[in-house]
Amino acid sequence: MKRVAIIGAGMAGLAAARELAGHGLEVTVFEKSRGMGGRCATKRWEGHVVDHGAQYFTVRDERFRAAVSAASGDRVERLAAPVRTGGQATEDTERWFHREGNSRLARDLAAGLEVRLETTVEDARALLGSFDRVVSSAPWPQTARMFGVDPAGIDYVPCLAVILAYRGEWLGATGNAYALRDPLGPLAWTACENHKPGRIAPGFTVLVSHLSEAFSREHLECPAEEWPGLVRPLVEAAWELSGEAFAAGFGHRWRYARVGTPFAVPALPDRCHFAGDGVRASRVEDAWLAGHEFAVNLIGSGPCAA
Ligand SMILES: Cc1cc2nc3c(=O)[nH]c(=O)nc-3n(C[C@H](O)[C@H](O)[C@H](O)COP(=O)(O)OP(=O)(O)OC[C@H]3O[C@@H](n4cnc5c(N)ncnc54)[C@H](O)[C@@H]3O)c2cc1C
Repeated sequence: MKRVAIIGAGMAGLAAARELAGHGLEVTVFEKSRGMGGRCATKRWEGHVVDHGAQYFTVRDERFRAAVSAASGDRVERLAAPVRTGGQATEDTERWFHREGNSRLARDLAAGLEVRLETTVEDARALLGSFDRVVSSAPWPQTARMFGVDPAGIDYVPCLAVILAYRGEWLGATGNAYALRDPLGPLAWTACENHKPGRIAPGFTVLVSHLSEAFSREHLECPAEEWPGLVRPLVEAAWELSGEAFAAGFGHRWRYARVGTPFAVPALPDRCHFAGDGVRASRVEDAWLAGHEFAVNLIGSGPCAA
């Protein structure tokens, strides 16, 4: 029996772990955080359940559909309200969310796997003493550091997320749209979490904003407490909200939010691999597919076959 270490309990790492474990390999997942999901992140805050990473996911690929359905069943729902870009509704995408928080999808996918939470891997090569293969699903710059290789030349785009709560339900334009998208302005994306039933405490409206690449880079190193104050005027103008209803806010820094352009993985030490979202687009479904396809190829490659 071959032993495989997977670094990261995000969508890619868990997809790879499930597939490898399903073929009889002994798999251990190491995750530095207290919870699973990585950038598919959910926070319990002020009585609300807020997705401050991935807002929704697509379910287009049959393999992903089957995995989501088996893991989470009818706790995954479709968002019905439109996303508006420049006042126009754009309904080209089916958007799905997990009723209990999007990070719950990761926990569901991890059922039955050995996942060691709050375990940071500093030197990934050291794991080769105990495992036959080491697979990292952390964003490439973090992966490269763990394996002692040069991370240069591969760009991940940062994103500041700002979450704002207002007293009153369905304030301003929040009843007419799930999200507003502005590809040209600083407020690249703002979504109203009230559209995910049961997530927001009664009597409140909660909005999640993702700032543009330019804004995020400019303010990346500012203290997170300053971001709500910077972003509130933009959000209140876009959603026609009164600042007097403001209740609370917080910011989260995503230093490696998404890969600029998918890349070919640079060489890693023998028996070491990368299986994160960088080899495909930075999306939940693509991250899962990256991990799943990596595992299928590894199983089929011979030396590691169970
Ligand atoms: C703000 C934001 C909004 C987004 N919105 C959407 C959206 O609406 N729809 C969509 O489809 N996608 C969205 N995405 C993209 C999507 O969330 C990611 O592409 C996907 O979740 C990446 O999954 P992953 O498993 O490849 O990486 P990650 O989720 O980053 O998982 C890597 C894991 O590795 C762990 N790790 C890192 N270093 C170590 C270490 N040294 N030791 C142990 N563990 C380690 C991390 O803690 C993390 O859990 C968004 C991303 C962000 C940041």
